[in-house]
Amino acid sequence: MDLKQYVTTVENWPKEGISFKDITTIMDNGPAYKYATDQIVNYAKELGAEIVVGPEARGFIIGCPVAYALEIGFAPVRKPGKLPREVISADYGLEYGKDTLTMHKDAIKPGQKVLICDDLLATGGTIEATVRLVEQLGGQVVGCAFLIELTELNGRAKIGDLNIKTLIQY
Ligand code: IMP
Repeated sequence: MDLKQYVTTVENWPKEGISFKDITTIMDNGPAYKYATDQIVNYAKELGAEIVVGPEARGFIIGCPVAYALEIGFAPVRKPGKLPREVISADYGLEYGKDTLTMHKDAIKPGQKVLICDDLLATGGTIEATVRLVEQLGGQVVGCAFLIELTELNGRAKIGDLNIKTLIQY
C-alpha cells in the first residue's frame, strides 16, 4: 500500500512557512491505519521488543496499537506535570528555548528491550530526549519507528547508531 497518499499536507500551519504533515487521514482510514500499524508490529517482532514507549500525543496513536497487537506494555512519555507519580526528566532544545519530557521512574525494567514510536521524525529532538529517558531507566532501545521522516532535517544524526524504521519519507 502506498501510505503517502493518505497523508495530508497542510501549508502554513501551525505557523507561516511550515508544511505540516497531517496523519489523521491515515488514522481515519481503517485499512491504511492497520497497514501502517502492521508494518511497525513486524519491525518490533524482528527486534524482539518487550515494551513500547511513545511521546505524547501522536506517539500514543502509533505506539498503543503496536503494543496491543504484540501483547506487550506501553509506557507514555509526557510533558511535565502530567504523570502522577515520581518521574525522571530530559530537556531538549527547540528553535527558541527548551522543552522537557518526563517518564515514570518505574516505567521500564532494567535491560528491557524498548521500541520507541512516534508519528514523525523531524529534527530528532523529541526522539533523542526520549532515548535518554529510556536509557536513564536502564532500558535498551532496540528500535525507533515513525510513520514519517522529513529527511532534509536529518533527525537520524541525533540518535547515532540506533536502528530506525520510517514508513514514509519526504
Ligand atoms: P522533532 O523533535 O523536531 O524531530 O519533531 C518531531 C515531533 O514534532 C513529533 O513528536 C511530531 O509529532 C511533531 N511534529 C513536527 N512536525 C510535524 C508535522 O509536520 N506533522 C506532525 N507532527 C509533527
